[in-house]
Amino acid sequence: MSDNAVRTIGIPRSLLFYEYGVLWQRFFEELGFQVVVSPPTDRAIFERGEAASVDEVCLASKTFMGHVAALAEGDQCDALFVPSFDNSDIRVGFCTKYQALPDLVRATFPQMRPQLVTMRVQKASDKKRMRADYLELARRLGANPRQASRAYKRALHAQEASDAARAKAQQETLALLAKYRKVVASDRTGTEQPPLAILLVAHPYIAHDPYIAGDIVAAIERLGATVLFADEADRTPALKRSFEFSETLPWMINRHLAGAVLQLHEQVDGIVLLSAFPCGPDSMFDDAIMRNVQGVPILNLMIDAQSGSAGTETRLESFIDILRFQGKGSYLHD
Ligand code: SF4
Repeated sequence: MSDNAVRTIGIPRSLLFYEYGVLWQRFFEELGFQVVVSPPTDRAIFERGEAASVDEVCLASKTFMGHVAALAEGDQCDALFVPSFDNSDIRVGFCTKYQALPDLVRATFPQMRPQLVTMRVQKASDKKRMRADYLELARRLGANPRQASRAYKRALHAQEASDAARAKAQQETLALLAKYRKVVASDRTGTEQPPLAILLVAHPYIAHDPYIAGDIVAAIERLGATVLFADEADRTPALKRSFEFSETLPWMINRHLAGAVLQLHEQVDGIVLLSAFPCGPDSMFDDAIMRNVQGVPILNLMIDAQSGSAGTETRLESFIDILRFQGKGSYLHD
């Protein structure tokens, strides 16, 4: 089947879908394709991904394979979109998993019926080059230059609007928390407890995946704290700020998270670092955050395929308990 025979494109709801999913979906729709996004991760999807993967790969990659398997069966789509993102972009590259993804999918599902529609994003930090990569994909899919250019423009605009809306909503939450803190501080009866805000620092496909982090976010909220997401901080200023943290950190998403931590750590009561086992970038990044970010308590959590989020609730309870004591001027200090 050639690319031109494609009518319906499936997109796995995993990995960089959480970073570029709005753009991808809109781009293909603007080009006249039907788009099917796999459902949110559940146990069945995860277990299929785990069964198809080698033990050594990270939980996020296993989850991705589960989404591929979910889309590949039946007649839901005649192509799957699996892009490759280079890690050659010095200081703002990607984990090598993103680069290898089309090959990993081909090797994992050699008999898969839908064909792969792929593209190589060589430099995601360079808007012109990224545009050229998408226009080339559109050309392969049969679009003329005008259609391709219009589709990309609209898709990029939709992604930017979505990112801006999430960043704005988070700023509004922070402003409300600050206002509430002032009210509590001025209450001389001391009956009101100040609000607690936790910054969750995780790759977006970990932080917003209901199966991977849903229980953790719900547990923090059940304990009475507001969850803010580092990946929802405005990307451009966060990336810029990240160079204060490290000149050499090679991964763009970790840079975004680092910049967000620098921007927000004084406005939250605690930080939860959440990573998926075994993640090379996070093992270095989380350690650097723990060592270098001062003045705010940090809890480091790791989820693996065996334990899931079990056991994390007790640790979260203790952490939030400590934060409340600290708020009362008790045993933690800078
Ligand atoms: S950054 Fe970590 S969690 Fe994400 S794909 Fe790479 S190894 Fe997996």
